[in-house]
Amino acid sequence: MSTAVVVGAGPNGLAAAVALARAGVQVTVVEAAEDIGGGTRSGEAILPGLLHDHCSAVHPMAVGSPFLRELGLDRYGLTWALPEIDCVHPLDGGAAGVLHRSVAETATGLGADGRRWRRLFEGPSSSYDILSDDILGPLLRIPRHPARLARFGIPALAPASLLAKTFATEEARALWGGVAAHAFHPLDRPLSASIGLGILTAGHRHGWAVAEGGSRRITDAMAALLLDLGGKIETGVRVRSVSDLPPTGVTVWDVAPTALAVILGDLLPPRVARAYRRFRYGPGAFKVDFAVEGGVPWTAEAARRAGTVHVGGTFAEIAATEREIHAGRMPERPFVLVGQQYLADPSRSVGDVHPVWTYAHVPNGYTGDATEAITIQIERFAPGFRDRIVGTAPRTTPGFAAYNPNYVGGNIMTGAKDIPQVIAGPRLTLQPYDTGLPGHYLCSAATPPGPGAHGMCGAHAAARALRHLRG
Ligand SMILES: Cc1cc2nc3c(=O)[nH]c(=O)nc-3n(C[C@H](O)[C@H](O)[C@H](O)COP(=O)(O)OP(=O)(O)OC[C@H]3O[C@@H](n4cnc5c(N)ncnc54)[C@H](O)[C@@H]3O)c2cc1C
Repeated sequence: MSTAVVVGAGPNGLAAAVALARAGVQVTVVEAAEDIGGGTRSGEAILPGLLHDHCSAVHPMAVGSPFLRELGLDRYGLTWALPEIDCVHPLDGGAAGVLHRSVAETATGLGADGRRWRRLFEGPSSSYDILSDDILGPLLRIPRHPARLARFGIPALAPASLLAKTFATEEARALWGGVAAHAFHPLDRPLSASIGLGILTAGHRHGWAVAEGGSRRITDAMAALLLDLGGKIETGVRVRSVSDLPPTGVTVWDVAPTALAVILGDLLPPRVARAYRRFRYGPGAFKVDFAVEGGVPWTAEAARRAGTVHVGGTFAEIAATEREIHAGRMPERPFVLVGQQYLADPSRSVGDVHPVWTYAHVPNGYTGDATEAITIQIERFAPGFRDRIVGTAPRTTPGFAAYNPNYVGGNIMTGAKDIPQVIAGPRLTLQPYDTGLPGHYLCSAATPPGPGAHGMCGAHAAARALRHLRG
C-alpha cells in the first residue's frame, strides 16, 4: 500500500490527507501544535463557555470550495450558519455600506451605485460554482471556462483604487475598500482588486457563513473523515528535518516556503531553494478577542445585525492605512475587522455576554500593543463600546508566529499578495505544488489559490502527489 506523510494539520494539510486517503493511500499527519486545525482553531479565551475563533471566522470560500463540498462534512458535524446581514461598513455620522448575500438587495441599498454593483457581481456570482474551477487553483494554466473567467478576471487585474473610482457614493467605495483590504496590500497596486472580488463573488453566491460551534468544526470534520478512512494524526511533533519523518512514498508540506527551504535544505534544487528563501511576507495582524456585555452598540443599525463589520472609515482612509503598514509604519487609526459570529451561532455566547472577534492590520513583526487603537476605532462607530467590555484576550504578531509557524511576522496570509505571488505562488512555475524534489509537495496557503480555509491548496497538492505515487 502506498504511504504518505502530511506535515501540518491546517485545513490544507488535512485536505491533502483526506484526498490521499480517499485514493487508498495510508496517510499519517504530523502536527507541531498540541491540537489540530492550524488557522481554524477555536476555544475559550476569556470566560468559561465563551467561544472564540482564534483565527479564521467567516467562510464564503470554504462553503463554495469544490473539494470540501464533495466530502459531505455535514456527516462529521460541520454545519454552516448565516448572519442576517453579511457585512457592514460604517462611516462617521451613521451612514453605512451594507452587504447582503443577495446582489439585488445589496444593489438596492447602494442607491446610485446599485447598477454598478450588479454589473460587477451578478454574472460572476451566479456562475461562481463553475468559475471556482478556474479561480480556486493555479492561475498559470489554460482556463476551463475562459469567457466566464474573463468577466471576473479583467476587473481583478486592476488596482482596487481604480475600481473604487467607478463608484459615486462613499458607502459603496468604503464597502468595496474594506473587502479589498483583506489582501493586506496597498490598494493602488495592480491586481489588488483580485482578492476582494474573489471574496465578494463567493459571498454573493454562498454567504459569509460561520461554522456552528466555531471554525474548528471545519478541520474537526476533516480529521474525523480522515480517521474513518484509516488515516492517523500525531500532534505535538514539530518537523525540523526530513530525518524526523518515517520512510514514506510522498510527503506533503503544509508549511511556509521559507521554513521548507530550511527543512529540506540541500535536498531542494538550488533554484527552488532560492525562490523559497526569498519568499516575501506581507503585513501582520494584531488580534483582540473581546467579551462584550450586550454586544457592540453600533450607531449604524445594520451593523448590529451583521456577521462582519469593517472599521476604518472611508476608502481613502483605508487605502492610507494599508500603505502605512506596508511601509512598516503603524497608523494611529488602523483598519480593523470585527466578527460577530455569535449572531449566526448564538451557542458561542454566555447569557448576554458575547464573543467579539477583532484584528487590526499592522506592520509585519509589529511589537507594540494595538488593543487601545482597536478599541478607539470601534468606539468611533459604536460609542459606549468600551463600557460594555467584560474582558479582552490580545494576540500580538510575535504571538501569532509562536502560535503557528506559518504566520511569519504575524502575516496571517502566509505570504505577501504582490503580483508574482498572487499569480504564481512561491515560485514562477506551472506546478506551484511541486518542490522540485521528487515525492515532496507544498500545500500551504502560500500556494494557489492562497489563504482561506477552503482546502483547495491541499487538494491540488495531493493530486500531484498521487500522480507521483502512480508513476
Ligand atoms: C486572525 C486570522 C483571521 C483569519 N480569518 C479568516 C477568515 O475569516 N476566513 C478564512 O477563510 N480564512 C481566514 N484566515 C486564514 C486561514 O486561517 C488560513 O489561510 C488557513 O488556515 C490556511 O490553511 P493552511 O492549512 O495552509 O495553514 P494553517 O492553517 O496555518 O496550518 C498549518 C499547520 O501546520 C503546522 N506546522 C507548520 N510547520 C510545521 C512543522 N514544521 N511541523 C509540524 N507542523 C507544522 C502548524 O502548526 C499549523 O497547524 C484567518 C487567519 C487568521 C490568523
